[in-house]
Amino acid sequence: MKTPTAIDLFSMLVFPVVLAASIAATLALMDRGVEPALAFTGPVVGAYLFVMLCERFLPFHRSWQRSRGDVSVDLGHLLVSGGLTLELLRPLMLALAVAIGGWISWVVGAGIWPHSWPLVAQLVPALIIGEFLMYWVHRLAHEWDFLWRFHAVHHSSESIDWLAGSRLHLVDVLATRSGVLVPLFLLGFEQRALEAYLVFVSFHAVFIHANLRFSLRALEPFLVTPRFHHWHHSSAPEARDCNFAVHLPWLDRLFGSRHLPREAWPVGYGIAGRPVPPGWLDQTLYPFVER
Ligand SMILES: [Zn+2]
Repeated sequence: MKTPTAIDLFSMLVFPVVLAASIAATLALMDRGVEPALAFTGPVVGAYLFVMLCERFLPFHRSWQRSRGDVSVDLGHLLVSGGLTLELLRPLMLALAVAIGGWISWVVGAGIWPHSWPLVAQLVPALIIGEFLMYWVHRLAHEWDFLWRFHAVHHSSESIDWLAGSRLHLVDVLATRSGVLVPLFLLGFEQRALEAYLVFVSFHAVFIHANLRFSLRALEPFLVTPRFHHWHHSSAPEARDCNFAVHLPWLDRLFGSRHLPREAWPVGYGIAGRPVPPGWLDQTLYPFVER
């Protein structure tokens, strides 16, 4: 067996260490009375910067470091579909939790969610329930033409990096986030666990799209890795509509949609025929344009 190099060890440690540090920082800030939105944003931005630094010094494709003129497009998507949408959903979820969650507790007699469990343990059922919902919302976005018009924007990037993961149409991100977070909240998912979950989801999304050749073979059976998700963005015909899982790869094995050639990475990315236009506004209007 080949001895791991310093870069192999670094690539294995980056994800768990940065994730644990970001979650710990978010919870510590919340415990000191910082608003959840702020307590979440600071550590997550720090984690994004760390991934950007890794991409700067250990890029998978050096040619992808040069912008194709789409940085402002992706920044527009990050601000609108990433930041604003999450802030819109927070009060909506709180209102729903108070209204419907209170009613469920009254009918059932007690909260369903295991509030007495340690926070890390609460994240496990949240991850499994959330992932099951996300898998099917994501699969539907590929297989139902109406939703694919929106999700195609995300798949239009031909070189992916930390920022490309944020190229999501507003409707796409609203469908995915509300399809997952609202049911979790209705089950009684508490605010601290929700923030920890959101840190995990946000950092993991940036990590799996990054321009980094971090294989993480030991993690592949348990967690969606950059290599697994890069295949989801492949333009190769044999990789079409595969690897819908966002966090737990065994769901694709279970539902017969896994595509992960041993050791290999995709060669081309994006959608054949380039149907999606390049500008932010054109991409936002694209699903509504008659073709
Ligand atoms: Zn997709």
